[in-house]
Amino acid sequence: MSIPFGQSTVLGYPRIGANRELKKAVEAYWAGTVDADALARTAAGLRADVWRTLRDARLDAIPSNVFSYYDHVLDTAVAVGAIPARFARLGLSELDTYFAMARGVDAEPALELTKWFDTNYHYLVPEIGADTAFAANPAKALGEYAEAAELGITTRPVLVGPATFLLLAKGEDPFVRLDDLVETYARILSALAAAGVAWVQLDEPAYVADRTPAEIEGLRRAYTRLGRLTHRPRIFVASYFGELGDALPALLDTPVEAIGLDLVAGPGNLHRLATAGPLGGRTIVAGLVDGRNVWRTDLRAAVTAGATVAGLADHVAVATSCSLLHVPADVSVETRLDPDLSARLAFARQKVDEVVLLGRALRDGTTPLPTPLPPVPLAWRHDDVRGRLAALRPTDRQRGDYPGRAARQQERLRLPGLPTTTIGSFPQTAELRQARAAHRAGTIDDNTYAERMRAEVAHVIRLQEQWGLDVLVHGEPERNDMVQYFGEQLDGFAATEHGWVQSYGSRCVRPPIIYGDVARRKPMTVEWSTYAQSLTSKPVKGMLTGPVTILAWSFVRNDQPLAETADQVALALRDECHDLESAGIRVIQVDEPALRETLPLRRADQKAYLDWAVGAFRLATSGVADDTQIHTHLCYSEFGEVIAAIDALDADVTSIEASRSKMEVLDDLAAIGYRRGVGPGVWDIHSPRVPSHDEVVEALRRAVAAVPARRLWVNPDCGLKTRGYPEVEASLRHLVAAAAEVRAGA
Ligand code: GLN
Ligand code: ZN
Repeated sequence: MSIPFGQSTVLGYPRIGANRELKKAVEAYWAGTVDADALARTAAGLRADVWRTLRDARLDAIPSNVFSYYDHVLDTAVAVGAIPARFARLGLSELDTYFAMARGVDAEPALELTKWFDTNYHYLVPEIGADTAFAANPAKALGEYAEAAELGITTRPVLVGPATFLLLAKGEDPFVRLDDLVETYARILSALAAAGVAWVQLDEPAYVADRTPAEIEGLRRAYTRLGRLTHRPRIFVASYFGELGDALPALLDTPVEAIGLDLVAGPGNLHRLATAGPLGGRTIVAGLVDGRNVWRTDLRAAVTAGATVAGLADHVAVATSCSLLHVPADVSVETRLDPDLSARLAFARQKVDEVVLLGRALRDGTTPLPTPLPPVPLAWRHDDVRGRLAALRPTDRQRGDYPGRAARQQERLRLPGLPTTTIGSFPQTAELRQARAAHRAGTIDDNTYAERMRAEVAHVIRLQEQWGLDVLVHGEPERNDMVQYFGEQLDGFAATEHGWVQSYGSRCVRPPIIYGDVARRKPMTVEWSTYAQSLTSKPVKGMLTGPVTILAWSFVRNDQPLAETADQVALALRDECHDLESAGIRVIQVDEPALRETLPLRRADQKAYLDWAVGAFRLATSGVADDTQIHTHLCYSEFGEVIAAIDALDADVTSIEASRSKMEVLDDLAAIGYRRGVGPGVWDIHSPRVPSHDEVVEALRRAVAAVPARRLWVNPDCGLKTRGYPEVEASLRHLVAAAAEVRAGA
């Protein structure tokens, strides 16, 4: 007898616990204050909570193996035995080997951490070589399945699929190992079948990006092979974050029993499905409830889309568009939100209800759907902002020509060659965090808090003068987070109290929600910057977060194009730039570290994105006079694909992560004719290592070979907030001395 898939499911669920219990437990384990058994007990409790929640919500297909101590890609690496020799060699326990891969140990740096597709979640990049000896290790998947079974709950274990796993890996050419790896998956599937597992979910999101014919062929081969196994669970291949394109017909050629399509991020999947030919009794798992954003689903529209799928396939199940990992747990615990807003929100727990309801409505056609929401409150509109946007002209995104600007800026700033600077933040010490917490809790008042922050700014300015930097920063002590800080001061943004989302490992973020028109109530940074500037004759950089990054790290409106929201944010920043300039600030940095992160996965969509992203940045920064110097800062990624867009930002100076890539980014910039200022990071701030004087000199010499010295800046890779003062002092002293040495020789 074949076991049906079920009517409703989620592709994954938040695993950190409603109150970040997992974060606290793993951090306590790392600190040595709880042992492995206690950690395991906390983890088991969290898993049981999730399964019971899903069961009680009457979700009928419940996933397991979506829990993780750190990252699900790392879990998959362990499940297939892809533990690099450098970690296996350490001779640690299984758990400590796992954490060593995640976080590194003294002797061994961690696996590389990188963004999970176009989200703000980070996964650990598997290292796959010709000599990686794959071996099936289904213990975790089996264990979780058994644990749920113990509670009377039948689950569907989830793993990253073999093709996506290799496409996410790094190494010589990981994908050539596909056939080997598939044999290991075959053993895992057999073991699951032997334990009574009826369905397994294999995630293949890599196929919503452009893939070569060979990669698509690999997918077909993999699932043909797994499908032919005699003892196996039924296979559900999940895709998400976009459209499957040519991978859909390839999957339909294989014997897999269910295919998941994201109908939120990839509405075109529907058309592709309609033209794909016979579906052969398969279950189509329709991702109708947005797993990436926080808004309630338009259930009527979703039922219509679901009915269309039902007309094409023998079986339809309703699902979230992707794992609910990307949204907070439960909106019902948010007591301080505007009721008009919370009525419009659905976090993970509410999305489960939506999926269940949609599943029922599709099955019986009579389940009543809740009434649609009333129109958006008028108070959320800012007609003045809309009016200004409507009146914009192309010249509002344009500055004077660069050579003219550069000359006027130099006249005013009188900087030496190879000017030194930092990216903005200085160490966020325990005292600073305590002061912020005390202020939030109301135990210190606004004045006391501001006084402490001013003292810190003064301290940071003094240090930079002592160390001999040329363009100073105020150190950002007042900022909890570079997006939240602005979100709290802008109309149209709401902050949650408990809306935590995992970013990586034990690190969680609480993205603001953009719900209405964005408007600036009053200057947001001017007081801090002018205070800092009043303490020194050297230029102090104003410090803002750019529109693209603000959107990328917030939950965004889905009732208007992102481009429009970005321009609204840009207008607020434009006003801020203007006020900084009027207050005597001569250099303003607008950070866009997320520019690359939200680049669409398919090339065909990238131009439109880059057009509005660049346009918003330019709207924010083009209102200043020619002699005000605009900097931008980019990090966290490889920039190859957006290099032309970086040029198009038209910033006077771009500081960019480069120390790990050995300055290659400079050649890329040179190749496209970039001719403005550039500060390739010469100190990798992601590690506590202090770069030696000679190392910085060498990096600078390499940079001078690629870029004329008069356009070169000297700075670290990123902000210093996660570093401690001893490393910062030593490193910055080396950096300043190295700049002087190379300057003298250049
Ligand atoms: N100005 C910010 C800082 O220095 C930039 C942070 C970032 O690039 N992520 O902290
Ligand atoms: Zn950075």
